[in-house]
Amino acid sequence: MSKENNLLSVERIAQDCVSCGICVRECAFLQEYGSPKDLAEDWLAERGGGHFPFECSLCGLCHGVCPNALDPSSMFLAMRRELVEQGEGELRQHRTIRAYEKRGSSSLFSWFYLPRNCKTIFFPGCAMPGSRPQAFYHLFKLLRNLVPDLGLVFDCCTKPSHDLGNDAHFKKMFRELCDILHRYSVQEVLVACPNCYRVFQEYGAGFRVRMIYEELAESGRFFRQETKQVTVHDPCGVRFAGKVQDSVRELLRQLGMEVREMAHSRATSFCCGEGGSAGFLRPDFAKIWTDKRAIEAGAECVVSYCAGCTKFLGKKTSTDHLLRLLLNSESEMQGVAKTSKAPFTYWNRYRLKKRLQRELQGGICGSRQELSEKNLSLEGSLTRRRGALGSG
Ligand code: SF4
Ligand code: SF4
Repeated sequence: MSKENNLLSVERIAQDCVSCGICVRECAFLQEYGSPKDLAEDWLAERGGGHFPFECSLCGLCHGVCPNALDPSSMFLAMRRELVEQGEGELRQHRTIRAYEKRGSSSLFSWFYLPRNCKTIFFPGCAMPGSRPQAFYHLFKLLRNLVPDLGLVFDCCTKPSHDLGNDAHFKKMFRELCDILHRYSVQEVLVACPNCYRVFQEYGAGFRVRMIYEELAESGRFFRQETKQVTVHDPCGVRFAGKVQDSVRELLRQLGMEVREMAHSRATSFCCGEGGSAGFLRPDFAKIWTDKRAIEAGAECVVSYCAGCTKFLGKKTSTDHLLRLLLNSESEMQGVAKTSKAPFTYWNRYRLKKRLQRELQGGICGSRQELSEKNLSLEGSLTRRRGALGSG
């Protein structure tokens, strides 16, 4: 985004925010720093300064509650971008998350499998294959039965750089990913991670984007009699994605579960605490979000559909991943409950890639580096095996 566009986001808040205080009441970050209008005016007048925009979770709750449909989270993202453009936004606290992102697109972990006639790919994101490799494996087999000629892409959507304001790097990396998919005629992206969903929705022009839960709810194969009451935590990435939220509740109903809605759900869901990498600078703000969510959930089990949210909320309250509930209900799927933590997550990702490289035959295969535009001249050396798919 250009400096002019960054400024526009700030100017809009400075002009249209009426300081009603509704968003401030919801958010510890705003309570500490002031109303969006004041912050916008100070920014434009070059008063204050510092790295405070990196303490906002970019969760979008302020957008969800604003009666004037303003989006202060976009303003804080624009401020982050401006700091990065000025050379003041590369913070040492973000080294870990930047390294995590980099590994996701590296030749060690990235891998594209595009079978013949592939129109739809499954894009699981970085978290699930590492933390829940068994669940991922069973899920992929299941999806292959539902979606003909389903492809698979292990890679990173580069959301961390997006949120850290490194717009040039984000755009370069995401464009490279999309270029590969377009070149091989992919039309639809099935995602497992709400953050990937948001990135593809917002920047993946030309692709139809769906979350796996939409596909799974339509399949109608999860009808069970669990008779349990649960509550749902909607991740920030799908805050405004009503169809995704509906499909999650539909799946829980199919499992026989009763859903009690929390006061903050869907467009007004709380952040789990992990959003915007804010916790690297302000763990106290992150903890406030997690605590607020736990208080609203009370004694009920929280079901989420984001690996990060499930992990974060799980520190504070009884939390389950929707995928585990779905796959656990399939008696033949053993081991799906198992989750791993770093550094084992990297080992899991590597092993999964190797296993699938052995099992999936035919079509176009290669890492991002092998398939990217700059290596087109090497295309002849790529693994381009066409033929029948393996049994998986
Ligand atoms: S995006 Fe979230 S953390 Fe940031 S100002 Fe809005 S409500 Fe607060
Ligand atoms: S809810 Fe909207 S109008 Fe009210 S203070 Fe927040 S941004 Fe301004």
